[in-house]
Amino acid sequence: ILKRLVKAEKLEVVSHLAASISHEVRNPLTASRGFMQMLGEDEQNPIKKRYLSIAIDELDRAKDIIDDYLLFANSAPERPEQVDVGVEIQHVLQIMKPLANMNGVVLPPPSLLHGQAKVCGERKKLQQCFINLVKNSIEAMPNGGKLEVKLKKSGETVTVEIHDTGCGMTSEQISRLGEPYFTTKEKGTGLGTMVSFRIIHYMQGKVHVKSEKGKGTCFSIELPLCTKTAPKID
Ligand code: ADP
Ligand code: MG
Repeated sequence: ILKRLVKAEKLEVVSHLAASISHEVRNPLTASRGFMQMLGEDEQNPIKKRYLSIAIDELDRAKDIIDDYLLFANSAPERPEQVDVGVEIQHVLQIMKPLANMNGVVLPPPSLLHGQAKVCGERKKLQQCFINLVKNSIEAMPNGGKLEVKLKKSGETVTVEIHDTGCGMTSEQISRLGEPYFTTKEKGTGLGTMVSFRIIHYMQGKVHVKSEKGKGTCFSIELPLCTKTAPKID
């Protein structure tokens, strides 16, 4: 038992470290990217210009991996708190607005609930979960479309539905969702859905996916509401 405890503690330290290191690493990446871009703009030599653009692409790649992976190493809740799903959804849509605009995606305000829907988890992780899913929906609509988010409460659960009018998936692709490194994108990481699914799993939630190739996709995430009794955490 002692050995197992030590191992669990080590794992926790490592995953904590991974999460904080990734935060720290983003800043120097962003700074380097800025300087390289400046050098590239002034550069006349086409070969050097090309090298700089490759270097920038590689930095973007590193940033994508960190963004999708940031909390993965640490997706079991450490300090569970009560989180209002409606508030977090609104926050996430705010964050994703620039990406939606860039892709010509319209983002009507989410249909929220009257009153609160509190779930037990960690705010940052729940945000990461929704960010990864919303990002995928937007990326599925490179030529524009509509992203709708709906919240529904029923009995003991709250369900978040994320609808897009994007490229959709085949049933084979749906079945591979959540598999690490599964991606159909040229510059994908294949980590985003895996991270989201793990976070949902740790909150004892469920995911349903409906998708039709060429038409669109709907992810519904059903999460248990916080009850007065203490939450079960494994
Ligand atoms: P990445 O986005 O880096 O490819 P993800 O794990 O986030 O990795 O997604 C894995 C794959 O699942 C995507 O490459 C895409 O093929 C598919 N996918 C996920 N969400 C959607 C969606 N809303 N519409 C279409 N395909 C999707
Ligand atoms: Mg993704």
